Amino acid sequence: VGVFYRPLEKISAVVETYPKGIAGFRRYMALLATAPDIVDRPGATAVPLRGEIRFEGVRFGYGDGRPVLDGVDLAVRAGETLAFVGPSGAGKTTLCSLVPRFYDVEGGRITIDGHDIRDLTLASLRGQIGIVQQDVFLFAGTIRENIAYGRLDASEAEIRAAAHRARLDGLIETLPDGLDTVVGERGVKLSGGQKQRLAIARVFLKNPPILILDEATSALDTQTEREIQAALAELTEGRTTLVIAHRLATIRHADRIAVVSNGRILEQGSHDALVAANGAYRRLHAAQAGIVAAE
Ligand code: ATP
Repeated sequence: VGVFYRPLEKISAVVETYPKGIAGFRRYMALLATAPDIVDRPGATAVPLRGEIRFEGVRFGYGDGRPVLDGVDLAVRAGETLAFVGPSGAGKTTLCSLVPRFYDVEGGRITIDGHDIRDLTLASLRGQIGIVQQDVFLFAGTIRENIAYGRLDASEAEIRAAAHRARLDGLIETLPDGLDTVVGERGVKLSGGQKQRLAIARVFLKNPPILILDEATSALDTQTEREIQAALAELTEGRTTLVIAHRLATIRHADRIAVVSNGRILEQGSHDALVAANGAYRRLHAAQAGIVAAE
């Protein structure tokens, strides 16, 4: 149907380095097993990043001989929000999943602040990238543990501040044990919107300079939607943000939009500039606006 309209569930929720033994570790290992060749290079270093990301002639395929990314050049300034739009299968998710090195490029390179990301340790790289996606991964445990999972040394005050900024206060107040309420199969079931806010709280706590936002396509009620948008607007502030965008509002508010098509960047610019250019973006935008109007 709609051009922006397919659930994206491919970027793994797991960017953190898990301590052994906690729930979710199996899933992490399953992820690693899909990319066993992604390891630290000899001499890789940990570097604090500001978040200027460059894709230089990036080529990539999933090993079936078909190129998915076919020479992507793109520069994202530190602190900028860049929205990727484009038809389903164009390569938006793939582009974003190369930044935390879920896969490595086949040609070209990706740099952050001038460092080839393969010269950074995985722990350093992934420790400075937050991911919010629609397929939120919660493990069986308390809300507190689920929020703190990006930073196990977090203090009570830090966890509460993150919950507050993610608009989780209301939920926590209504739960019998507050932050210590167990969620998941054996505990309280959270709605899609509540899970998303929990994921947002995680990233507030982790406070990374780089954010990847895989925007939800599923419908939420208006109030929840508004709260999540407000929390996300705050979350993106001061961080380099790559958005796999589905919503018109998000796309319009991005600093810049990159139209991905057939594994390349077809056009880039502000919303107004791209509409004025009367190219692919304008057609995608018209189609998306049509969907929104029909809802
Ligand atoms: P959508 O908006 O529909 O999610 P997208 O622009 O994010 O699309 P990608 O998910 O990056 O596109 O997919 C680009 C191409 O790579 C598609 O042809 C897709 O089928 C293929 N692809 C994606 N993930 C994998 C994978 N894990 N293994 C093999 N092929 C894959």
